[in-house]
Amino acid sequence: MNIREEIKRDHALLTEWRRDLHAHPELAFEEERTAALVAERLQSFGIEVETGIAKTGVVGKLKAGTGNRAIALRADMDALPMQEGNDFAHASSVPGKMHGCGHDGHTTMLLGAAKYLAETKDFDGTVYFIFQPAEEGAGGAEVMVREGLFDLFPVEAVYGMHNWPGMPVGRVGASAGPMMAAFDTFDLYIRGKGGHGAMPHQAVDSVLVACELVGALQSIASRNTDPVDALVVTVTQIHGGDAYNVIPGEVHLAGTVRSFREEVRDSVAPAMKRIADGICAAYGATAELRYDKLYPATVNSVEETEQAVAAAAAVVGADAIDRSPVPSMGAEDFAYMLCEKPGSYIWVGNGDVEGGCMLHNPGYDFNDEIIPIGVSYWAELVELALPAER
Ligand SMILES: [Zn+2]
Ligand SMILES: [Zn+2]
Repeated sequence: MNIREEIKRDHALLTEWRRDLHAHPELAFEEERTAALVAERLQSFGIEVETGIAKTGVVGKLKAGTGNRAIALRADMDALPMQEGNDFAHASSVPGKMHGCGHDGHTTMLLGAAKYLAETKDFDGTVYFIFQPAEEGAGGAEVMVREGLFDLFPVEAVYGMHNWPGMPVGRVGASAGPMMAAFDTFDLYIRGKGGHGAMPHQAVDSVLVACELVGALQSIASRNTDPVDALVVTVTQIHGGDAYNVIPGEVHLAGTVRSFREEVRDSVAPAMKRIADGICAAYGATAELRYDKLYPATVNSVEETEQAVAAAAAVVGADAIDRSPVPSMGAEDFAYMLCEKPGSYIWVGNGDVEGGCMLHNPGYDFNDEIIPIGVSYWAELVELALPAER
């Protein structure tokens, strides 16, 4: 492991900052305290700060040398609406809210990098430090892009990272191509004809149709999609009926769809509609589909991923980098930034998952041991991507 002295020196301070953020979690677009802390600290490092992008987003700008090139580094700031199960001193002080995904750590590591780079300035060009709100489901990255993030702060590339439980500390995963899946949701309303539970011949049973449909929807992945392509269609909700002896007139199914390739993604809604209409027609019912495309797939570009791997290798060593990690069917709104600019999103090992230390688990905690790794990675990346004149 190759960690610079200044970064080792800041480890205790950054651990304190991280634990403070952990104890004070804030949900999507409500990251007022976090954003204020971020802005105040960036300013104390002598970094120019813009606030209020996507409500609580903060961007820091640091220039060194005379070069006109620029890159952006991104961290997410929001917590999750869940109850923390840990009882250590820095556990959440807010009931029902928890930093269960490690965004407290991401924010801290980017602050640490900003501090180091502002002190050393051993690069040529401009670095933008993007602190985004609302990664968890609300698409804060998309709102920032829509509000002109890359017009206000023009960059040639953008980089992100996520801590990865289950990957040992000191290891990094990075590959060109898809790292995380596209994330869609659907609602299917099946309308039959309500009636007496004892007189089914007078009704059109929407429950029976819904049951047929749940199974049949699995054929989209298994029969309509090239087996080499990944696709998940999951029904996560079934709502219908209130009584033992009433056949409900309507059943509502809902769920999520995950995919990597846009062609595969685009094929799902029409297939769903075809199957729903067909099965409903067979039973004399009708179907209404609502399909919402949410986050796109997170797809790393080739050159920037090489750059990211070189920077990570300078910290953890080339042998500690997994160059072809199995992509996750989870989703990540950094994808919206990668749709605008080339870049790379890497995983940084958070260590073992004992005690439920998995993302979105009540027993999760960001591993403070990896703070110097993340800070060093950002510093190496900036110095490699924007090399100072020698
Ligand atoms: Zn998460
Ligand atoms: Zn996350």
